[in-house]
Amino acid sequence: MDAATEFFAHLPARVLDGIQFEAMRYAMGTLSVFVLVWLLFAPLLKSRKIRTTPHRARQIRDEIRNSAVTILVFVSLDVLIFDLGDRGLFRKYDEIGQFGWWWFLVSIPAALVLHDAWFYWTHRLMHTKRFYRVFHLTHHRSHNPTPFTAYSFAPGEAVVNYMFIPVLLILLPIHSLALYTVMNIMIFKNATAHCGYELFPRSWVFHPLLGCLTTVTHHDMHHARANGNYGFYFTWWDRWMGTEHADYLDQIGRRLAAELDQRASKATGAPVMATAKQEASA
Ligand SMILES: [Zn+2]
Ligand SMILES: [Zn+2]
Repeated sequence: MDAATEFFAHLPARVLDGIQFEAMRYAMGTLSVFVLVWLLFAPLLKSRKIRTTPHRARQIRDEIRNSAVTILVFVSLDVLIFDLGDRGLFRKYDEIGQFGWWWFLVSIPAALVLHDAWFYWTHRLMHTKRFYRVFHLTHHRSHNPTPFTAYSFAPGEAVVNYMFIPVLLILLPIHSLALYTVMNIMIFKNATAHCGYELFPRSWVFHPLLGCLTTVTHHDMHHARANGNYGFYFTWWDRWMGTEHADYLDQIGRRLAAELDQRASKATGAPVMATAKQEASA
């Protein structure tokens, strides 16, 4: 069987596999964050809500429609990727023993560090005048994001985001389970980054080690202002390149002070300080 006949013979099964895989991943990430954060724990997370401004009318409907297009783009690329994989272009492997457990464990954070660099630089590029309108405006129509903003991309941005996977598979040997883990971390991080509630302990931002992790507020500020805070998992690139919002630490610090003040007043029965009250309701 020649390559073209083989490709088309496997096409229907691969499209179905792709739809199942991408739709499941999307649903798992966005719906779980939506159900847990917006429905079940919303009353408990009241003080963690980042903004009180309402969402655009029909925003979630638009985001789900854009996400369906993103899933179709991903599935089309999955089909091509499988084909390239079959031709031995990628370094994906299935036997842990081939590179050992140590590499299996190291490859996951290594892939996340590479993905963060990919995200930061392609994101900055998409914010340039030349590319913003065609590639990135759709994502920024969600000025005040929701968990469904995670995949709300124009088709061009969906391609750019997807392309990290083939690049990773060319650069590094990655076990299939490690790849699956990385892809699930991506969607959960993506859905939480857009959920509108600060889920991380705010004190982490000032920790010498944990301060390198981006909080929900970090990406929320990016949506509020449509610039700065371009990183995904880590704050490194924004700090090295001077693109972190100058008031990011201040904003987190003020909310943390309000939170600590409220906790202290609950414990001692003393009234909440006026400034803290103000911050908590901001
Ligand atoms: Zn975003
Ligand atoms: Zn952006």
